[in-house]
Amino acid sequence: MAEKTRAVFEIVRPGVPIRGSDRYFPVHRIYCVGRNYAAHARESGADPEREAPFYFMKPADAVVANDSRVPYPPRTRDLHHEIELVVAIGKGGRDLSLEDAEGHIFGYAVGIDLTRRDLQAEAKSAGRPWDTSKGFDHSAPITAIHPVGEVGHPVGGRIWLEVNGERRQDGDLAELIWSVPEAIVELSTLFALQPGDLIFTGTPAGVGSLRRGDRVRGGVAGVDEIRIEIAA
Ligand code: MN
Repeated sequence: MAEKTRAVFEIVRPGVPIRGSDRYFPVHRIYCVGRNYAAHARESGADPEREAPFYFMKPADAVVANDSRVPYPPRTRDLHHEIELVVAIGKGGRDLSLEDAEGHIFGYAVGIDLTRRDLQAEAKSAGRPWDTSKGFDHSAPITAIHPVGEVGHPVGGRIWLEVNGERRQDGDLAELIWSVPEAIVELSTLFALQPGDLIFTGTPAGVGSLRRGDRVRGGVAGVDEIRIEIAA
């Protein structure tokens, strides 16, 4: 009897390909910065001037490879796209200084923070957590990680997304309210950062609904382009 019920576990970390290498970036945690572009904060009903950075998380196994077909998630009628610059942490630490923050970055990627907006609206109005609206299965499509040696530290340039060839989001990294180093510093006062952490840095204005069969394309200038299709 015991023979039949014995389970065998191996430790497998979700991974994201590293550009220019046959190795994978082993994902430890996925942190996300909320409302980090003023125009998106306004379209979400917040005042961008008076808010300190805040964070939410997705499970590490929410990552989806570039050029994938993503299933339309259950329990929503309002799946939204949020195009974002993603930071990949290569060296851990706590209470980092602004001067040190960039030294902890392994590389950058482009991701889509998929969101069940209707569940998020319910959670907001009830004062409940965002987990079901943000941290669902397949909610973090992401390109390969591009090492800093290849792309440097992008501080400006277009960040955009189109659906079926129609432009939906069009912003510039220079519009980030909290810069990448600032977002890392604040996050490192809340959690011990670890190699393998990903940080989705927030989305510009223009978020909107996705339907089954939609072809989604987006990018960050100088980093990469992401392409997904929402399964029919
Ligand atoms: Mn987001």
